[in-house]
Amino acid sequence: MADTRHTKVLIIGSGPAGYTAAVYAARAMINPILVQGIQPGGQLTITTEVENWPGDTHVMGPDLMVRMEAHATAMGAEVISDHISSLDLSKRPFVAQADSGITFTADAVILATGAQAKWLGLPSEEKFKGFGVSACATCDGFFYRGKEVVVIGGGNTAEGEALFLTNFATKVTLIHRRDTLRAEKIMQDRLFKHPKIVMQWDSEVTEVLGTDAPSSVTGVRTHNLKTGEMKDVPCHGFFVAIGHAPASELVKDQLPLHNGGYVQVEAGSTRTAIPGVFAAGDLTDHIYRQAVTSAGMGCMAALDAEKFLAGTEH
Ligand code: FAD
Ligand code: NAP
Repeated sequence: MADTRHTKVLIIGSGPAGYTAAVYAARAMINPILVQGIQPGGQLTITTEVENWPGDTHVMGPDLMVRMEAHATAMGAEVISDHISSLDLSKRPFVAQADSGITFTADAVILATGAQAKWLGLPSEEKFKGFGVSACATCDGFFYRGKEVVVIGGGNTAEGEALFLTNFATKVTLIHRRDTLRAEKIMQDRLFKHPKIVMQWDSEVTEVLGTDAPSSVTGVRTHNLKTGEMKDVPCHGFFVAIGHAPASELVKDQLPLHNGGYVQVEAGSTRTAIPGVFAAGDLTDHIYRQAVTSAGMGCMAALDAEKFLAGTEH
């Protein structure tokens, strides 16, 4: 017979937002259940060194997430290795169906399912991820001091990444598949005027070039979509900035979304359009997308959920 578990707060996701929410909710004696999903620890488990988590000059992303899980568990949160396949927010208690067959019912839900960077899907891109291929200049730009880098994309993210990388790199080549950018005009203006930035229009990247021992990137192979010309662009770092996909699949037909799929929350809070449903971290955030901002929102979500439960309980 299928198992049903009831909890006051169900936290969906085990990145910085989910684990921080779990720490706060556990300390508020709400006895939260956190479901980890298929990427326990979230996006930071696919990176190496994190140098901007306050209190740690250097910490390995996976280690940091192991510590966050241990912290949440030590405070009394129940962390479950499972994946939520469907969520019904139409009435309370809310109902979440997990892959294992367990049905969770919850008085409040904290959505912390994050967002995933979109990738080109090239085998060579996959091979060099973490060894010169990145989707986060804020995280990895520092490693390219005095080196040449390539960014691909034509939106605000790509422009932001390219401009940020000029703080470290000697040359930034921005490759875009068309001859106009999507980015705001002011960003374009800054970009075109920047002496370190070179634009390569109408081009796609067909392969990331590199060495095996040590594993590192040496360039990218490009294809001009108008002329057909193939060209190798030398670089040490290749930044993919072709958009992020928020993991809002579970709620896309139940909650208002913005900016291409991010869950909308009330300004200054984590409340969504449905009372008792809160959202935190990259799932809601198309601008900052950092571990520390996600953790901050996780804290807010737990406090918001605690207040909500106190209000309905009395
Ligand atoms: P995520 O970390 O995305 O976690 C989402 C969680 O939701 C995962 O555990 C997943 O399993 C779970 N989930 C998804 N769907 C379901 C479901 N249906 N059921 C159950 N669970 C589900 N930020 C920094 O501040 N510093 C850095 O140095 C840094 N480096 C980065 C390097 C890389 C390569 C990447 C990709 C990102 C980096 N970031 C960095 C960004 C940072 O990782 C994110 O901002 C942060 O992880 C977002 O946290 P989150 O909790 O919102 O979601
Ligand atoms: P985006 O606006 O969707 O832009 C993605 C870019 O990547 C587009 O230029 C697109 O090309 C290109 N692209 C997509 N798939 C590609 C592929 N397979 N190969 C090559 N190029 C590909 O994404 P974003 O820049 O991440 O921005 C997302 C949202 O966040 C936007 O609403 C943006 O305004 C917002 N944002 C705001 C700020 C800010 O306010 N400072 C900063 C970052 C993001 P095409 O143009 O040809 O489609």
